[in-house]
Amino acid sequence: MENIRKHDRIQMQIVSTCQALGITAKQEHKGQGWRADVFIPNNERPIAFEIQLSPQSLSKTLERQSKYIRDGILGCWLFEHPIPKLLKERPDLPVFYVEDNEGSDLMVNLGDRRKIDLRMFLENFISNSIQFKDVARTNSMQTVKLVFYEMVCWKCGELNHLFYVETPFYSSCNAKIKPEEALWESNSIEYSPEIIALAERFIETRKDLNLKLGVIKERFSKTVNKPYVSFGCYKCDSLFGDFYVMEAKIDVIYDPMALTYQDEIELRQNIELNIPHWCFPDNKQFCGGH
Ligand SMILES: [Zn+2]
Ligand SMILES: [Zn+2]
Repeated sequence: MENIRKHDRIQMQIVSTCQALGITAKQEHKGQGWRADVFIPNNERPIAFEIQLSPQSLSKTLERQSKYIRDGILGCWLFEHPIPKLLKERPDLPVFYVEDNEGSDLMVNLGDRRKIDLRMFLENFISNSIQFKDVARTNSMQTVKLVFYEMVCWKCGELNHLFYVETPFYSSCNAKIKPEEALWESNSIEYSPEIIALAERFIETRKDLNLKLGVIKERFSKTVNKPYVSFGCYKCDSLFGDFYVMEAKIDVIYDPMALTYQDEIELRQNIELNIPHWCFPDNKQFCGGH
């Protein structure tokens, strides 16, 4: 009973919101083997909204969706709970999640990326401003948090300071992009020029901390018998091997007293990660792929 009342309330809200936006919306519109909760007929591609509050399997949802696809209709599903086995968002099945808190606006979740009100959702979905993309791409502006840690040079015994990037990066649609999972030309985001510049800026403005950062550059490693980009000693220029850097870093990862610095930077190169998603950027800069 509760679900039926909720279903009807959401259905009416979709219709009244469409009317307020000047969009024709029909309730309980029937076609061949389907009946849309709300149907938008006068669109380049007609849209059928389906409100699904009771659980429905992925196979059942795809079976119902196939009828809309057959009839050239864009079926858009508003679920309350995630569909089991739907592990990735897919282009043939726009699924979003409604959050109905009585007394306040109905909210629509786009995965775990953005939560927007129903009006914003309908206005943008109907006008094709929410599009499917295969690849999440970083927004050029990013807030980055650096964590500094100490490392004693294995050769000369001098105390050095290294840093790592603690925060993930985000696309304009707020998808989380972890550089270590992305196809990234350098194996470490810490070695990119804009991140190095950020670290150097901090060291420069906080001279009182007396941080010692060696040059980040290519050094020849006898261990692997080839050169690679690395941290190294500010004093004797010895290479700090990845393994030892990792060990020193682990000591600081859970340290709440660690020295940190956070600021906004502009990325010179986008980082992309395969995250199929329904993209709704906050600045009209859609992610990549199709
Ligand atoms: Zn040294
Ligand atoms: Zn996106």
